[in-house]
Amino acid sequence: MKDKKFYITTTLPYVNAAPHIGFALEIIEADIIARYQEKILNNEVIFNTGTDEHGQKIWQKATEQNKAPKEYCDEWASKFSELKKLLNLSFNYFVRTTDEHHIQAAQEFWNVCEKNGDIYKAKYQVKYCVGCEMAKTESELVENHCPLHPNQELELREEENYFFRFSKYTEALLALYEKNPNFVKPASRLKEIKAFVENGLTDFSISRLKEKMPWGIEVPSDKAHVMYVWFDALVNYISTLGWPENQEQFNAFWPGVQVAGKDNLRQQAAMWQAMLLSAKLNNSKQILINGFIGVNGQKMSKSLGNVITPTEMVERYGIDGTRYLLVNLGTFGEDSDVTFEKLDIAYNANLANGVGNLCSRVAKMAEQVGLVISQNENLVTEDFKNLMNNFDLNEALSYINTEVSNLDKFLATNTPWKKDGEEKKQILLTACQKIQTIAAMLIPFMPETAKKIQENFDGSVKAFSIGLFPRLA
Ligand SMILES: [Zn+2]
Repeated sequence: MKDKKFYITTTLPYVNAAPHIGFALEIIEADIIARYQEKILNNEVIFNTGTDEHGQKIWQKATEQNKAPKEYCDEWASKFSELKKLLNLSFNYFVRTTDEHHIQAAQEFWNVCEKNGDIYKAKYQVKYCVGCEMAKTESELVENHCPLHPNQELELREEENYFFRFSKYTEALLALYEKNPNFVKPASRLKEIKAFVENGLTDFSISRLKEKMPWGIEVPSDKAHVMYVWFDALVNYISTLGWPENQEQFNAFWPGVQVAGKDNLRQQAAMWQAMLLSAKLNNSKQILINGFIGVNGQKMSKSLGNVITPTEMVERYGIDGTRYLLVNLGTFGEDSDVTFEKLDIAYNANLANGVGNLCSRVAKMAEQVGLVISQNENLVTEDFKNLMNNFDLNEALSYINTEVSNLDKFLATNTPWKKDGEEKKQILLTACQKIQTIAAMLIPFMPETAKKIQENFDGSVKAFSIGLFPRLA
């Protein structure tokens, strides 16, 4: 009987570009955490992802391609759901912000915030970055451009819009961060968001005139407006759980853990939290923030022609190799840098020559002496669990690597290939048991590899007919 419930969600990517490796890392991290919760802690897990489909950016793209926005979104949503197979993901919930249920939930969320006095109408003039779908303050701009979209001109906008009383929640947000020092991981990002909130919050616009941009969810009390895309999209984290009508499931799984990139820090850790406070719902459990992945010191971009896609990585390193190599770059920390050369080196060192070679050698020797071992459950060590419970995924992976090299050293010291009889069998038995432990800890990270190791190290140990990770030339 599974009694504990656990909920984790990624952000929802916009459907205007193919999934990049930054999002691949984000969803793999969520998958590792979900599998750990389910397979090792035996909890009941909801793992949510999906697609963010409203807003001006999508409207423009669809119009450029002479498509109805919904038709355009359908094509992209299927590309994102194909990631499931590509990266062997275990998400069991996939929300699209154009789903009928989500639309109703977003409208109900609006009604609740309005009833609680946090939505009002006012004149509005701002510099708006269509790339971010966000208004920008002067202090955020670099040479009068959005630093994330330096090639795009900011739009100057004035219209009468609905606003959300973000400023009202300054103290409550600071209290939330104070009460829960792990609310945002890593600590440097918590410091950053705290500084942003301490600087004073400005109410933000949460609607647009439908006649200017119709591609959004209608404001329930005013049909001339549609909701600002973020106000609608953030509600997905609870609409996917069945909020508002399925209170039983919502209360069982909320609050949850949210994984995001650093460009989403403000939306996840401040805006969404203020919205939850306004609706008198619990705040998220924890926000896990990734840095950006660059290539050779540069931003990955189409124009620079240096984009590494998840598909290319899977073709070269296999699914588990890709999962491993992305997590190996670092999780919930600073920016990282990648090249195929560096990935090849890590693949050969840690996978081909590391765990792959170790398992092959031991299995072959054990088969030769006819070694029989029993399958051992609950092998995961407390040290490993502590790292995983703390979402230190990269450190947990290093911990497994250390276990692999310790076992290599054990074999070099005990030289079973020079021994025979009982002595040889004892050394190999110890080695096989350690490999079972390693396989158990690999389950969340490399599920297929873990399964193959467990199959060969159960009962009569069997040599591998094909290596787990063929060496790259
Ligand atoms: Zn921007």
